[in-house]
Amino acid sequence: MWMAMKLFGRITGLFSKDLAMDLGTANTLIYMKGEGIVLNEPSVVALSRKNGQVIAVGREAKDFLGRTPQQIAAIRPMKDGVIADFEVTSTMIKYFLRKAYHRARLVRPRLIVAVPTGITQVEKRAVIESAEQAGARQVFLIEEPMAAAIGAGLPIERPVGNMVVDIGGGTTEVAVISLSAVAYAESVRVAGDEADEAIIRYIQQHHQIAIGQNEAERIKLRIGSAAPLSEPLVTEASGKEILTGIPRPFRVTDGEVREALREPIGVILESVKRAFEKTPPDLAADICANGVWLAGGGALLRGLGDLLMRTLKLPVHVEKDPLTTVARGAGIAMEDMQHYRQVFIN
Ligand code: ADP
Ligand code: MG
Repeated sequence: MWMAMKLFGRITGLFSKDLAMDLGTANTLIYMKGEGIVLNEPSVVALSRKNGQVIAVGREAKDFLGRTPQQIAAIRPMKDGVIADFEVTSTMIKYFLRKAYHRARLVRPRLIVAVPTGITQVEKRAVIESAEQAGARQVFLIEEPMAAAIGAGLPIERPVGNMVVDIGGGTTEVAVISLSAVAYAESVRVAGDEADEAIIRYIQQHHQIAIGQNEAERIKLRIGSAAPLSEPLVTEASGKEILTGIPRPFRVTDGEVREALREPIGVILESVKRAFEKTPPDLAADICANGVWLAGGGALLRGLGDLLMRTLKLPVHVEKDPLTTVARGAGIAMEDMQHYRQVFIN
């Protein structure tokens, strides 16, 4: 009997394609064992206001943001880094898992989920239950900054301090990792979304034009920066004149966007400085020597690495593909769960 079970375990292990998921406030990514990232979509769900039915999830649903007709609500259930809406989060997790797993549904997968460091017990249960309902055989949780550090190739097991700054959509997480544990973590609700909001406010005040969230994000991606550029950038955008309500195209420059982003960037800088104040001297000294690693989509903002480097006066490394760092790190931990067993928090 025991032999049979052992054999069965081995065979299911052989056929099951274990998964790792980065459940981000802006984007959800899924990494499949042996294959790498197989899904990368916005964490958005569009629902019918009438009967609560799901109309679209992911990329398709993101287009509804800011342009939903009366009867449709586009929701970002993870927006503030915590689960704002359990039902919708659960629906989203199930949808993405099924999508990633459709080809190999023979055996239920084990699943690793990267979660924010501040997650509560109730939220942990919600994530685990949703994943189980979606067909996961066993669920393991890993903290996002830990996954980011592994994804960035940092020596997390060693008794040295590693600092990761993960600038996502809803939150920026600053963490210090040492000896396979998170020694310090702080999450602030200022990141990519807040940058978009700052652009909306700036355009409203200086151009008297109202723009939507998606348009603000497009402006940020095209010409956004944290420090002056060697070549000036200008882009065309469109919105509605506030006084008349008439749609109007307009031009915006990199200098204007930089001015708009000054405040949110300041908040992120403060949070990094606070992390240094709260980190024990020896770990802080390691970080000064090795530098700070930037991950998350916000790390792609032009000049942000340089600005941090000049402000903190220490080396700053921008992860090479910061939008996938957490998913890759969770994937690496999944590929060798025995080796990384200490990093799972449940
Ligand atoms: P999360 O982990 O919270 O889901 P991500 O790490 O996926 O967040 O990052 C999403 C954020 O990164 C969004 O706010 C997006 O606008 C921003 N972003 C993506 N690319 C860039 C870029 N090139 N410049 C600035 N911000 C970017
Ligand atoms: Mg993230």
